[in-house]
Amino acid sequence: MKITDQIHFFPWMDMRVNNGNTIFVDGPVKVLIDPGHAQTWPLVERQMSAQGLDTGHVDLVIATHGHPDHFEAAASFPPPTRIAMHPDEERYIAEIGPAFYQAMGLRAPEVRVDLHLQEGDLKLGDTEWLVIHAPGHSPGSICLYQPQDKVLITGDVVFAMGVGRTDFPGGSGDLLKRSIRNLSALEVDVLLPGHGQAVRGAAEVKQNFAFIEQAYFPML
Ligand SMILES: [Zn+2]
Repeated sequence: MKITDQIHFFPWMDMRVNNGNTIFVDGPVKVLIDPGHAQTWPLVERQMSAQGLDTGHVDLVIATHGHPDHFEAAASFPPPTRIAMHPDEERYIAEIGPAFYQAMGLRAPEVRVDLHLQEGDLKLGDTEWLVIHAPGHSPGSICLYQPQDKVLITGDVVFAMGVGRTDFPGGSGDLLKRSIRNLSALEVDVLLPGHGQAVRGAAEVKQNFAFIEQAYFPML
């Protein structure tokens, strides 16, 4: 699904398989955000190829966080592709990774993080982005905001009518609430979550944040 000339969204629609949504940012620097599970990556790759996107050339893989349904396939991208995540997430995955992945019947991928993404500006090719540290679902979760087109990529922090789990190791309801409040202050026209469908339209995004605050915050 084409969101802008550069941003392509590949929502995972098969509910029988837990896989995160993948986002591809085209342009002078080609960026893949959350490639997903290793065994489901070929299916995403096929969809990208069908849209004429060159999956053989990815400059940067960004993980919104290190859970297997977002990050496992990062191991399929050897150098010169660079792998990026928040430093807190790299530490977290190094600590809990093997046990966490094992609990899901998986082997933790060799963590090769080439680039740390901290809160602040990020230039991808000719486009300015903002990295937002948004802990709560995991300690080093990040969201990515592109102010020009008002696109917000939220990983497992916010979904359409939902929020990320806080019961995994390293989760925190208080931190998640703080992170979501922080995100809700942004001007957003398109919200691209890590699971489920996109939220499109400024009013719909505002409504989504309002619903979450009302329905989920008391439980967090
Ligand atoms: Zn997750």
